[in-house]
Amino acid sequence: MRIEDRLAVNKYDIDRDIHIAVNPDVCTKCHSRTCLYVCPAGCFTLVDGRLNFSYEGCLECGTCRIVCEAGAITWTLPRPGLGISYEYG
Ligand code: SF4
Repeated sequence: MRIEDRLAVNKYDIDRDIHIAVNPDVCTKCHSRTCLYVCPAGCFTLVDGRLNFSYEGCLECGTCRIVCEAGAITWTLPRPGLGISYEYG
């Protein structure tokens, strides 16, 4: 099964209180931009050379928090009952 098919069977109840914040001032000075390559949900993209982050598809794996050496990411889980539910789509 392709990763896109696996992601399609998940259910999201998005927490509108953003649970991951990315500091764009720090990202501007970062050259490795590891987050672009490690996020399994593709939440980090480049738009006109600037880092863009969309938290809505987050899988809550915590990888971005660990790999961001610049400390640009503030990360918490969504509020209870919100966020991703696996294999309930
Ligand atoms: Fe992507 Fe995981 Fe970070 Fe969510 S926690 S934005 S899925 S790397």
